[in-house]
Amino acid sequence: MHPLAKLDQKFVWHPFTQMRDWLRREPIVIAEGEGAILRDVKGKEYLDANSSIWTNLHGHNHPKINAAITRQLKKIAHSSALGFANEPASCLSAELVEAVSSHASPKPATGKDQTAGPELEKVFFSDDGSTALEAALKLAYQYTLRTRGPKSKPRFLSLNGAYHGDTIGAVSLGHVDLFHQAYGGMLFKTGKVMSPYCYRCPFNRARPERDDARNYRKCNWECVGKLEQKFSARGKKGNPYAAFVFEPLMQGAAGMIPQPNGWLKQATDIARGHGALLIADEVMTGFGRANSKLKNKNSKEPLFACRQENVAPDFLCVAKGLTGGYLPMAATLATHKIFEAFLGEYHEFKTFFHGHSFTGNQLGAAAARASLEILQSRKSVQARMELEKNLRAELQSLWALPNVGDIRQAGLAAGIELVKNWRTREPFDLRDRAGIRVCEAMARRGVLTRPVGNVIVLMPPYCTTAAQLKKIIAAARAGVMEILERRN
Ligand code: PMP
Repeated sequence: MHPLAKLDQKFVWHPFTQMRDWLRREPIVIAEGEGAILRDVKGKEYLDANSSIWTNLHGHNHPKINAAITRQLKKIAHSSALGFANEPASCLSAELVEAVSSHASPKPATGKDQTAGPELEKVFFSDDGSTALEAALKLAYQYTLRTRGPKSKPRFLSLNGAYHGDTIGAVSLGHVDLFHQAYGGMLFKTGKVMSPYCYRCPFNRARPERDDARNYRKCNWECVGKLEQKFSARGKKGNPYAAFVFEPLMQGAAGMIPQPNGWLKQATDIARGHGALLIADEVMTGFGRANSKLKNKNSKEPLFACRQENVAPDFLCVAKGLTGGYLPMAATLATHKIFEAFLGEYHEFKTFFHGHSFTGNQLGAAAARASLEILQSRKSVQARMELEKNLRAELQSLWALPNVGDIRQAGLAAGIELVKNWRTREPFDLRDRAGIRVCEAMARRGVLTRPVGNVIVLMPPYCTTAAQLKKIIAAARAGVMEILERRN
């Protein structure tokens, strides 16, 4: 075993990992990366098919991001945002506000700007997705107490299967029983409403077809009806929901569950109609990941999933791809209305009492500024358009596999749901580790990704070439056949 692998096994405790399994075999130790390729300490190359857990945007070792970090490093790596401002964080906040603004998105077909809701104007920096959500949650909580009265009991509503991070507030918003039940006693109560999981929707009367379930669903938007009922019921109790928390266009860790066109707009309109704040978790979907509205390289792309359905949230949380996947940095963007509720004389103690040591970190902000600039370049827009189209085309070949039940894509993110039998949609028991074993088989073929339960996640860096994508899909196909077909 490589000495670094030995060291790891002796001392490191890995996240979301059964360490007994981990200790059974030699781990892959990553040493280098370039573009979509990761190289281990033995020199073996792999394709990074999940962009290093959904963080990387433009590929590893990108010369522009490297240069931006190096330039900043020569000045200073970090000084505190508690008491001081700094150059890269100030500039980045302005650039982020501009990038999320409704006028940075194409106008809706009607010509009427339906996004003319509140604009996001303030940026609260933190470190990762969980802390971005935690900040939004606390801000929304305080805002509600201040506007509805100190006796109000702010309650949050989120989607079935929701995953918003691992800090206690974020876990409370989550509804992945497998992860979250373990902490039951530590959590506060939040509402849960069905998510539009067309493939496994009890209201979808369509028999399985070889197509994305959203395309052949037979239903009457019962999921939207359920949402309306949930808000109404809470309103009748005299304590309407304070906020609706959602991942726009696609829920990631819930199992790569994409929303049928129009769901997001309907759902958020209902929430607004019932006086709830909107908290958009774009930790996975942001920075062009889930967008598929790009029709030509000259069009203005909405970089955020919310904007694709002209939804104007009160909070928008970003992390993972903010720095191009280079450094841990996150941001919670909020509207002026929220910000104002925290203004007062010192002695009123309306301050937002929350913050982290590395808030507004200069190296992270420098990387993020470079990443945003790359994202907005024509070359990157063109690359994303092509990758999205190629991914859609390549995924088609997987329908031939009887253990593939559903293939769903939102922009540059895709999920392949593995089933025992596509005709019945019968799922694998999680104990079968179908997803994990298929990913291990893919790794043997030089492609790295991680499943969400029985769903294989493909989320390649934007620089992935057509040939590399072919290799990723071929590994997925061979992996599914090797692990699952022999048992049928
Ligand atoms: N929200 C979403 C939608 C996520 O996908 C994740 C991470 N997978 C998080 C929040 C938490 O982010 P982090 O792991 O950076 O804390």
